[in-house]
Amino acid sequence: MDIRYLGHSAFQFKVGERSILVDPFVKQNDKYDWHAENITDIFVTHGHADHVGDTIEIAREKGSTVSAVVELADYFAREGLTTNRVNFGSWLNYPWGRAIFVPAFHSNSLPDGGHAGQAAGIIFDIEGVRIYHAGDTALTSEMKLIKELYHPTIAMLPIGGHYTMDIGHAAVAAEWLGARTVIPMHYNTFPEIKADLETFYKLVNMNNTGCLILNPDEIPNQQQMQ
Ligand SMILES: [Zn+2]
Repeated sequence: MDIRYLGHSAFQFKVGERSILVDPFVKQNDKYDWHAENITDIFVTHGHADHVGDTIEIAREKGSTVSAVVELADYFAREGLTTNRVNFGSWLNYPWGRAIFVPAFHSNSLPDGGHAGQAAGIIFDIEGVRIYHAGDTALTSEMKLIKELYHPTIAMLPIGGHYTMDIGHAAVAAEWLGARTVIPMHYNTFPEIKADLETFYKLVNMNNTGCLILNPDEIPNQQQMQ
């Protein structure tokens, strides 16, 4: 599997011929050409614009299936997209692996202002690697449960503060999750979410967790995970 950071909270997982996008707010990244990718699945953690991003345009072109909590999935269905309406509670099977939605501690609304259900994080289980994409969340004791139940290998954590955890709380989250590697996200996109990456890196390393800072401008093969 290749993991590619696309900026903000957007990631692409490439598994064989398939590409899976999470929170594809990607148009601001001119190094990423989604037209060239075989995007079979898009996961959206919640309905805010910086996470829905370019989902509708991409899914329309690629015929991707959009997996989201039911209220948000129904919004995408009204836009004509193919959806997988999900909720918290069990693993969901896909041709490339499986995923489970978990609660995030964050507000939520649809792009049109409607009710979007609860904001989520998502744990992916792909080729034996467990990836926890936290979505937007505050620090929550749920993360201790995530460690106990799912043993994430990689944790993608928001660190920008203001709307989510800041670097201090994200470092605590890294410890609670017990992941081998932490990838910071949701920082420096807007003035109010500026984060001190160097300090975060040091804080995480003090807990014997690796911190992998990914540059959205890099080509994907340099970010290959085992
Ligand atoms: Zn956000």
